[in-house]
Amino acid sequence: MIIVMRQGASKREIEAVEQEIRRYGYTPHPIVGVERTVIGAIGDDRGKERLQALETTDGVERVIRILKPYKLAGRELHKEKSRVEVAPGVVFGGKRIPVVAGPCSVEGLDMICATAEAVKAGGATVLRGGAYKPRSSPYAFQGLAEDGLKMLAEARARTGLPIDTEVMSETLVEKVAQYADIIQIGARNMQNFDLLKVVGQTRKPVLLKRGLASTIAEWLMAAEYIMSQGNPNVILCERGIRTFETATRNTLDLSAVTVLKRETHLPVVVDPSHGTGVAEYVADMALAGIAAGADGIMIEVHPNPHEAWSDGAQSLTPARFAETVAKMRAVATAVGREI
Ligand code: PEP
Ligand code: MN
Repeated sequence: MIIVMRQGASKREIEAVEQEIRRYGYTPHPIVGVERTVIGAIGDDRGKERLQALETTDGVERVIRILKPYKLAGRELHKEKSRVEVAPGVVFGGKRIPVVAGPCSVEGLDMICATAEAVKAGGATVLRGGAYKPRSSPYAFQGLAEDGLKMLAEARARTGLPIDTEVMSETLVEKVAQYADIIQIGARNMQNFDLLKVVGQTRKPVLLKRGLASTIAEWLMAAEYIMSQGNPNVILCERGIRTFETATRNTLDLSAVTVLKRETHLPVVVDPSHGTGVAEYVADMALAGIAAGADGIMIEVHPNPHEAWSDGAQSLTPARFAETVAKMRAVATAVGREI
C-alpha cells in the first residue's frame, strides 16, 4: 500500500504513520518528494484493510493499493528514476551513460591491468572481469577465484576504475563485496533466491542480469528480493534470452529496455556481448541499446580475443572497443545523453 501524506504534513505526523505501519507488521519505506512524502507499506497482503484505515489519520491524504507485485522495484511507489552511484561520480541512471568493459574472465595480473588501462583509454568508466565463472562445462576454466579478485583490486588501484565482478554463491558474497564496487548476479543465478537475499543484505550496488529464459516480470521480482532485504542499489542488465534463433548466441531483447522504463525506476544496462555472442554484432547492438534508452552498456574486451580463456568470440579488441565508444557517443548525444 502507498500512504500519500498531505502537502506540508509534519515530521511528527509522518513518524506516527510509520509507527502504525510497523505496528501492523509492515515495513515503512518513506520517499520524500519535493512536494510531499509518500510512504510505502511493504509486507503481507493480508492486513491491507488495516492500512486502508490510516486514511483517517492526521496528515494522511489517501491510501492507495500498489497493484504490481514488484512493490519496491515498480514505478507506483517510486515515480522518479533511481540513480545508483557505484563510485564517486560514476552513476547509473543519470544523464551520463557509464560504459562497463573488460574481459569475460580475469586471466592474470598483467592481463587485467593492461586491459584496464586499454579500456579506460577507450572510454570505459567501469572495469568488469569474472573471478568466479559460471561455465556450462565443469571441465572449462572456472576463474581465478580470490586471486582474481585481488588482481581486479590492483587494476582498480592503478586505473581508478571501479570494478564489477560476479558472485555465484551465498557463501562468497561477503568476500566478493570486500573487493567489488558492483556485485554481478549472473543470468544463471537470477532466480537463486537465497543468493538474492544475501546480496540484498549488503548495501553494495548489484548488477542483476536477466535470466536466460525469464520474463520481465520474473526479473523484476528477482530485483524485489534484493530490495526487500533493504538494498535499493539494483541495476538491471539485459543480456539476451533463449529463443529458437541460432544465428546469435542469445536474442537481445531491446524492447525490454523500453518496457522497463515504464515498469521500473531502476537503471537498465544493455550487454550486447552476451546478447549476440559475436564480436561483429556488438557495436550495432550497443548503439541500438543507447537509442532504446539504456542507462549503461557492458562490453567484453580482451587484448587478444583469439586467445581468451572464455567468450573470445564475442570479445572486442581494445582498438575496436574505442571505435565503438566513439560511435556510442554520437548516438548518446542524439538522444540527449552523454558518455
Ligand atoms: C558474464 O558477464 O561474463 C556472464 C557470465 O554473463 P551472463 O550471466 O549474462 O551469462
Ligand atoms: Mn562472458
